Amino acid sequence: MQVVWFKRDLRLEDHAPLCAALNGAPALLLYVFEPELWGDPHYSERHWRFVAQSLLEMNERLEPLGHRIRIVEGAVLDALSDIAEHTTITTLYSYQETGLRRTYDRDLGVAHWCQDRAIPWHEFQYNGVQRGRTHRRGWAKSWHQFMAQPMDSPDWEMLAKIEPKVTFKRVEEWSAERLRSLAEPVTVWEQVGGVAPANAVLDSFFGGRVANYHRSLSKPTLSRKHCSRISPYLAWGNVSVRQVYQRLLQAQAQQGKSRALSAFNSRLHWHCHFIQKFEAEDRIEFEPMNSGYDQFDDPWNERNEQAWIEGRTGLPYVDACLRCVQQTGYLHFRGRAMLVSVLCHLLGGRWQVAARHLAQWFLDFEPGIHYAQIQMQVGLTGINTLRIYNPVKQGQDHDPDGVFIRKWVPELRSLQGAIVHRPWLLGPIERASLELDYPEPCVDVEEAHRAARQTFWARRQNPLVLQEVKRVLYRHVEQDAFRTVSRSRRR
Ligand SMILES: Cc1cc2nc3c(=O)[nH]c(=O)nc-3n(C[C@H](O)[C@H](O)[C@H](O)COP(=O)(O)OP(=O)(O)OC[C@H]3O[C@@H](n4cnc5c(N)ncnc54)[C@H](O)[C@@H]3O)c2cc1C
Repeated sequence: MQVVWFKRDLRLEDHAPLCAALNGAPALLLYVFEPELWGDPHYSERHWRFVAQSLLEMNERLEPLGHRIRIVEGAVLDALSDIAEHTTITTLYSYQETGLRRTYDRDLGVAHWCQDRAIPWHEFQYNGVQRGRTHRRGWAKSWHQFMAQPMDSPDWEMLAKIEPKVTFKRVEEWSAERLRSLAEPVTVWEQVGGVAPANAVLDSFFGGRVANYHRSLSKPTLSRKHCSRISPYLAWGNVSVRQVYQRLLQAQAQQGKSRALSAFNSRLHWHCHFIQKFEAEDRIEFEPMNSGYDQFDDPWNERNEQAWIEGRTGLPYVDACLRCVQQTGYLHFRGRAMLVSVLCHLLGGRWQVAARHLAQWFLDFEPGIHYAQIQMQVGLTGINTLRIYNPVKQGQDHDPDGVFIRKWVPELRSLQGAIVHRPWLLGPIERASLELDYPEPCVDVEEAHRAARQTFWARRQNPLVLQEVKRVLYRHVEQDAFRTVSRSRRR
């Protein structure tokens, strides 16, 4: 019997492992809820709810074909051992996963298990991310080649009619009721998992919402409507990057290459570009990408860090962004970048804490994009222009009337006008009369900003940091771009 192991690829179309397995021989389709991942600080129930919604939908499609995905809870090796006890596993099929160290180690265990039993494990390339690459020469070209290939459409006629008989003992098999109960939405804000919701998002985006895409990217409220909102569906694999890219090409053929579609095109490329960085160097989950930054020890301000986690920093736009993402699972790019910058540059918090909490809150948590972005926003790569955000200015620029702040920080609703961006300017008498239950700001923003700029620029000139820049560029930046940067550095 063949086994198809689903991970972050929760769909039945454009699925290479399924295509390979549907060859007439019996196939067992498997998903494992792993307690080790469930307990990992990057994850929260929000993610497993999305997974449950996706699996429910997949099984609704499979049941008329006389099949279903077997959903179990436990360790992957235990699930495989249970299957192997009932039958001979001829081949294990899955996608490669560019995940946290935890899933990488698990996959090493699976590889050994398969090797010991002479079971071939076919892992297929996932999206445009290539395993084993040590540099970026020719990467963009192969990305395009991959995206231009026809979809991997499983031939469901080739699905063996017999349901493989396996009783799980080491792991617990989930009933449909259990899955349904986990899948129950808890808030209207959270996007719902599944292929149908993913397609609905793409239809409405290319069908109209995209027109204001490039103008809304940095706006906390408009981005929710005009950005694609496809990220959780890509992160959990309800759609492949190729499916989205081919929809984009269709839209460009019909609508022309508008500024909005071009801006979306670039960002879609960034998806695999960032994951490739993590694939090439997954130690960035724990260490700076540019090892030159290892030598610096920053003072840790525990109190400020806790205020950030609770969304009570006393900086209205920051607290609004924090509370919004905690409750809804989504925040626009600029808001995410600002939250990291504020915690690490202004408040004295640790980047690893930013990474873990944001991961829990982002429904679209994708380890490769996440860690590569965190490193970039904190300034640990040495190759990117660093933005140290002034959160008051960000609020004034992108939420000038304070609508977003008042929505997510109800304590400030009674404030009229621009003071909502800087409530600390209110006098004690006004504060008392308004009965504001809102903290004073953790830091003096101007002062902290000035200090952060000085520290950062001094570090950037450090010889060990400069020495590492070359290596980072070679490993993570396309060769042509690398040459341009090298030339401009010489000038
Ligand atoms: C600190 C930080 C952490 C982040 N963590 C994640 C994460 O865990 N998962 C995640 O999907 N995105 C992450 N992003 C990138 C980006 O913010 C989101 O992809 C985007 O906001 C999702 O909304 P959307 O689907 O409407 O994006 P759109 O703007 O419509 O873009 C379409 C797709 O392109 C990709 N994309 C867009 N922007 C970026 C980017 N800057 N880098 C890489 N890919 C991009 C995503 O797959 C996105 O779904 C992070 C950004 C920052 C600054």
